[in-house]
Amino acid sequence: MPNKIDLKGLSLEELERFVTDHGEPVYRGHQLFHWIYGRGATTFAEMTDLPITLRARLAERASIGALAPLGREVSQDGTRKYLFGCADGRQIETVLIPDEGRLTACLSTQVGCALACAFCLTGTMGFVRHLQTAEIVDQVLALQRDLQPGERIGNLVLMGMGEPLHNYDATVKALTILAHPLGLAYPPRRIALSTVGLVPEIVRLGQSGLPVNLAVSLHAATDELRDRLVPINRRYPLKVLMATLRAYPLPSRRRLTFEYVLIDGMNDRPEDARELVKLLRGLRCKINLLPLNEAPAIPFHRPSRERVETFQRILKAAGLLTTIRESRGMDISAACGLLVTAGAEKRLDTAGHLA
Ligand code: SAH
Repeated sequence: MPNKIDLKGLSLEELERFVTDHGEPVYRGHQLFHWIYGRGATTFAEMTDLPITLRARLAERASIGALAPLGREVSQDGTRKYLFGCADGRQIETVLIPDEGRLTACLSTQVGCALACAFCLTGTMGFVRHLQTAEIVDQVLALQRDLQPGERIGNLVLMGMGEPLHNYDATVKALTILAHPLGLAYPPRRIALSTVGLVPEIVRLGQSGLPVNLAVSLHAATDELRDRLVPINRRYPLKVLMATLRAYPLPSRRRLTFEYVLIDGMNDRPEDARELVKLLRGLRCKINLLPLNEAPAIPFHRPSRERVETFQRILKAAGLLTTIRESRGMDISAACGLLVTAGAEKRLDTAGHLA
């Protein structure tokens, strides 16, 4: 028997081509797209508005792949962390975070990560592989299947394992499906993509016409410090990154988000806050301060609440919109930067290199 084609991961145009190649009218492609993504179908048998003969033929030739749910942990604060298995046996984590009556889904885009930020556990895994479009989209479908009555996912954030812009093509295709009204129908303003600052891909994203929110993991306001914390800064230094962001086509009434992990004695001094004010002057933006989430393999510490608040006060006094992001799901290692699978955790030395 010929290998079945997996329809999950195909765009609307690709599904239309698939059906017309098989002698079916183009609107069957629409129907398949809506069944697979809009309604989360996992079999052709349930596609009741398709002729039975067509359903049977589809089942012979095609499949609808799905991640295997391997585990779910629930934090004291209600955060849920899911472990999913991919077809090749690799594993990924996805987090569902309750927040004021709605849920935010935090999606992974790669197994591991190549960027090796000095304070991030996912980075210690190294880069294993990119996720496919289907694997990114299916995280949301799998979460939706697990919702309790009355629960709804309000926001999607690409802030799990991996660097979404390093996996540009699969990520942007997944976003298109997630945002498509016939697909999962998440409005782009309810989707945020977080990047370490890959300049060429930020430019491409701006040109893509996909108005998702952009978050940039900054963590330092000088090259000297950022080179150490976020090694990709050596390739795309702050001058280049900030010029790119200043030119980014922000939709009206939107702001860029900057993430800044606060590390005790490293980047949390009042002068660091003042450098940050200078760097961001005039940009339509908001800043999320993330007090470091600690783990044995991370060679840094979280600053005291007082230092965090002093840092925030300096930013606020300069007119910068600033929030302190509370860690969620700490007790189940679901918090920012703590996602890691399959025992790949290694130790980092203080320069951020693998020991
Ligand atoms: N690679 C992308 C997407 C990951 S988002 C990016 O870097 O933006 C995850 C966020 O958590 C990033 O801002 C990352 O810098 C941050 N993070 C990593 N390790 C952390 C830690 N130990 N404590 C708090 N935040 C951390």
